[in-house]
Amino acid sequence: MLLQLENISKTYNNPLVDTGQVVLNKLSMEVEKGERVAILGPSGSGKSTLLNIIGTLESPDTGTVRYNEQIINELTQSGLNHFRNREIGFVFQLHHLLPQCNVVENVLIPTLVDKGGRKEKNELAENLLNRVGMWNHRYKYPGQLSGGECQRVALVRAMINQPALLLADEPTGALDGKNVGAITELLLQMNMEEHVALVVVTHSDALASTMGTIYELSEGHLQKK
Ligand code: ADP
Repeated sequence: MLLQLENISKTYNNPLVDTGQVVLNKLSMEVEKGERVAILGPSGSGKSTLLNIIGTLESPDTGTVRYNEQIINELTQSGLNHFRNREIGFVFQLHHLLPQCNVVENVLIPTLVDKGGRKEKNELAENLLNRVGMWNHRYKYPGQLSGGECQRVALVRAMINQPALLLADEPTGALDGKNVGAITELLLQMNMEEHVALVVVTHSDALASTMGTIYELSEGHLQKK
């Protein structure tokens, strides 16, 4: 088992609700190594909150997050940062590439905290950029690329530390139909060739239908569809 969430609850302060706004309510889920999971649900149902908790960017109020049997709520902040950088890749709706860095530089940013291994990382960057069709654009800056091209670079950046888990929050939400298909294909390719597990929040039926497990998040719980 790669990831195990047990009885996760999260409540936000909301001035309109005395008791706070319950977003996740004793939610449990499991993700196997290499599994593909889609999370659907209406806007405001807590999908991003759930993804942020899985990605250790937010902590739950109660409940445990286990990763490879290790309880990650118990890690120190620096242990958590190290764990996140090594084990989890993130792709967001907007690519969040740094405008002042070219394609290769952007892709290598997550590798900078680790000393050594430069040659391997440079080779992996070349390999991955080739596979997403962006190697010929490696010296361009984000401002010189289309939205779909930026998202392909963002996907490579998410994969550069060879994570076991890739979290994607509406990865095709800002793209047109052709690019939705291209990013969907590339996510599947990374899953099958790199064995990375995918947890994808999406409104796209086309993307969701390629996932092995589809959940709907509603009223703080997940339901299998
Ligand atoms: P989704 O991704 O499904 O659209 P979110 O997880 O972004 O949903 O948000 C779920 C609910 O929690 C929303 O009503 C949102 O306003 C609220 N929320 C999210 N983050 C915070 C926060 N940091 N403080 C207060 N309320 C929040």
